[in-house]
Amino acid sequence: MSPQLVWFRNDLRLADQAALCAAAAAGPVLALFVLDDETPGAWRMGAAQRWWLHHSLADLGGRIAAAGGRLILRRGRAGPIVRALAAEQAADVHAIVHHEPWAAVQEREAGPLRLHHGATLAPPSGVLSGSGGRYRIFTPWWRKLQEQLPPPRPLPVPVVRWADAAAIASDDLASWGLRPTTPDWSGGFGEWRPGEAGAAARLADFAAQAAGYEGQRNLPALAGTARLSPHLALGEVSPATAWHAIADAVGADTAEPWLRQLGWRDFSANIIDQFPDHGDAPNRPAFAAFAFRDDPAGFAAWCQGRTGYPIVDAGMRQLWATGWMHNRVRMITASFLVKHQLIDWRLGERWFWDTLLDADYGNNAQGWQWVMGSGVDSSPFNRIFAPVGQSAKFAAADYIRRWVPELASLPDALIHSPWEAGVRRGRAYPPPIIGHEAARARALAAFAQIKAGGDAAGTTG
Ligand SMILES: Cc1cc2nc3c(=O)[nH]c(=O)nc-3n(C[C@H](O)[C@H](O)[C@H](O)COP(=O)(O)OP(=O)(O)OC[C@H]3O[C@@H](n4cnc5c(N)ncnc54)[C@H](O)[C@@H]3O)c2cc1C
Repeated sequence: MSPQLVWFRNDLRLADQAALCAAAAAGPVLALFVLDDETPGAWRMGAAQRWWLHHSLADLGGRIAAAGGRLILRRGRAGPIVRALAAEQAADVHAIVHHEPWAAVQEREAGPLRLHHGATLAPPSGVLSGSGGRYRIFTPWWRKLQEQLPPPRPLPVPVVRWADAAAIASDDLASWGLRPTTPDWSGGFGEWRPGEAGAAARLADFAAQAAGYEGQRNLPALAGTARLSPHLALGEVSPATAWHAIADAVGADTAEPWLRQLGWRDFSANIIDQFPDHGDAPNRPAFAAFAFRDDPAGFAAWCQGRTGYPIVDAGMRQLWATGWMHNRVRMITASFLVKHQLIDWRLGERWFWDTLLDADYGNNAQGWQWVMGSGVDSSPFNRIFAPVGQSAKFAAADYIRRWVPELASLPDALIHSPWEAGVRRGRAYPPPIIGHEAARARALAAFAQIKAGGDAAGTTG
């Protein structure tokens, strides 16, 4: 029997791993991971996620070693590396399909592959309208996807006969330098447990509280969401596994609000499958002419959490410290950057890409284009979040106390807008970088300039 090469990508798991199952059924298995910083170009993995990748590969490699195999590590352009190893070992290659634009290039360059489904709930290209077209708007797409749900039950970890890989060259994981050293800014990542077992534990914890998701998911002061996104981003748990775990725990009806969020992840894959440059180009062409401001100091203040808006600063500091930010606060901080500061959404998107442990090309681009109003399915530009109103509405006082300790002694009534009562005087906290009403007027004026361009507010999906 010829050896079967499993090319692990952002699907670093043994359970519900269709490529591994197919390979195991066909012959002795070799396992490969390639750190490819070339094919993705500017979208190579960001700094925070590299920290996660290190631990995730250590976990996967350890599991494979414990079962008698060896995870081969190589660095470089993935396609040619996969192709050469397959030729050298006369192996068939199995992999799971991914939807980032560079993933398709890797697949083309890798030579003959046996591709399997498993990165999304359903293959994006199979969710089609009655006339055979692709969807661009979430709600009709979600309705259509339901016809293919629930996804098949997850596949168990297969019994694998590992091929002898002792003589095959492999890099040493530590030599990749994926973890930060000088300085080591990963100290706040301690709450995370990368790897398949960590993902399963996180999913089990969330299953016990999933019934309260709908009531809590918008409240950043609570740990009311799954915080599963870094595990999903590197595929330590499959979306189908997550789906069934939560639906089984609380029943499909109660689970629906959470399953729908998981659906947004599939929707992002559906969008980048149709618009590979979604991370770089606005879907609505009129936005290409949007007059963003060049404001390096303002951008630095946003990155560092020093805009003078407590909810914005709390979010940006949570992101820097922990590699994750609550979804409600992602929307508020992103909106602040593009609408209050009129700074190009792509700068914020890149900052998120580099600092998020859950960085996901589709979800990130979709989130930013949604906030900007430039996506095929997005919030209209002229709906401008009021950061103070959002902060109070979503009861963020304790969240602010945690991440902006300069304000910790303020009562709830003052903490969202400390300048209003003059309490800022003498404190180390900066004044607001711009007033809300002035920012709003400026943003609407900038929008009016491109509205004449035609499709700025129209529906294209
Ligand atoms: C500007 C912006 C940028 C974002 N960038 C990313 C990113 O790089 N990576 C990323 O995974 N998510 C991103 N999101 C979406 C969302 O904020 C995170 O998926 C969510 O906060 C993850 O936390 P959780 O696992 O507790 O989510 P839960 O609320 O528990 O949801 C469960 C899962 O559903 C998926 N999901 C939830 N909300 C969304 C959404 N709006 N879009 C797509 N999938 C969703 C995620 O995989 C998540 O893990 C972004 C949102 C915005 C507004």
